[in-house]
Amino acid sequence: MLPYGKQSIDKDDIEAVTEVLHSDWLTTGPKVVELEREFAVTTSTQEAVAVNSGTAALHCAMVGAGLGPGDEVIVPAITFVATANAAIYVGAQPVFADVNSETLLIDPDSIRQKITAKTKAIVAMDYGGQPCDYNTLRKIADDYDLTLISDACHSLGGSYAGRPVGSLADFTCFSLHPIKQITAGEGGIVVTNDQEAATRMRSFRNHGITTDFRERQKGSVHCYSMEHLGFNYRITDIQCALGVSQLKKLARFTRRRNDIANFYRTLLEDIPFVRPLEADPNLGHAYHLFVVKWDAAEAGCTRDEAFRQLKSRGIGTNVHYLPVYLHPYYQASFGDQSGTCPVAESAYEQILSIPMYPGLVEAEVRKVVEEIRLVGETVVASRAA
Ligand SMILES: *Cc1c(COP(=O)(O)O)cnc(C)c1O
Repeated sequence: MLPYGKQSIDKDDIEAVTEVLHSDWLTTGPKVVELEREFAVTTSTQEAVAVNSGTAALHCAMVGAGLGPGDEVIVPAITFVATANAAIYVGAQPVFADVNSETLLIDPDSIRQKITAKTKAIVAMDYGGQPCDYNTLRKIADDYDLTLISDACHSLGGSYAGRPVGSLADFTCFSLHPIKQITAGEGGIVVTNDQEAATRMRSFRNHGITTDFRERQKGSVHCYSMEHLGFNYRITDIQCALGVSQLKKLARFTRRRNDIANFYRTLLEDIPFVRPLEADPNLGHAYHLFVVKWDAAEAGCTRDEAFRQLKSRGIGTNVHYLPVYLHPYYQASFGDQSGTCPVAESAYEQILSIPMYPGLVEAEVRKVVEEIRLVGETVVASRAA
């Protein structure tokens, strides 16, 4: 069975983790600092705050941006639920903007329509690994005095106008889950150039305590001071050692993902019922996902049927994502919002993420495309019979 995504772990990754297990620090030690420093370099930012998940990173960014009750945060309708949930964690209200039908990236015109006097922030999500149009998003944020947050959990390694993802928004959040570009098992990072916000986020990840353990050690004082309500979002040195080792391979992984994407695009040209999402050749695409639109009328079967058939043929696929406001929790808490983002809702019926990860070899890419072709042909044959 080919999965739709998968981590790539080598011997040197394993050795990096083992080394930490022999050291004095299992958590909140030098590997956390090293991962933060390397992320700041990779993303051309001044501050990186490592936490234990991408979701925690988004929660920290909401706190760093000073968002709270009464505020509205504009998020794309099509994203992982955590993007919108993070706004709710701080008592703010997520407001859903529609997406572009060809890229599934948040639609700037829809953002403008959703802005009210209460709007305080926009969260852009680089769907599938393709950076959003950050120049346009920055202009909107400046026009309305909003904080621009980037959920870049798909796009580590990507770039826009020659600038790396991470340097394009006020706060940028990454995930280190195994399915993402690089992994630490679990983990997340927020990067920013706002040093005061970074200090607040560092305290927030540690219960709202304002001095960390190492500072106390240096200062020969035993007491600590909790000044805000925070969480335990700390990440371990064990995880960060894996993250540091993986980050060294990011450029190679990203190139490999792009090669696979180009190969898919060539092979899929012959299949009339499958169309890859559009990619802007001027952008540095990170290709976290390879998403195609499944044309049910042309193929003779629905996307859901294709998902099942491909699974039975050994090809794992997935659907990213149901528009967030259609989830039961959102329906129950914020009322029925169906119909508010029609492009997202109609795209949702068609999208299918097919296998994409650095370890996928050429023969496997060919097999994926061949099985897709066979699903279409089988439907036609069974109709004729
Ligand atoms: C993976 C992901 C997250 C959450 O990251 P975790 O590390 O799983 O908490 C948030 N947003 C998007 C778009 C993601 O893909």
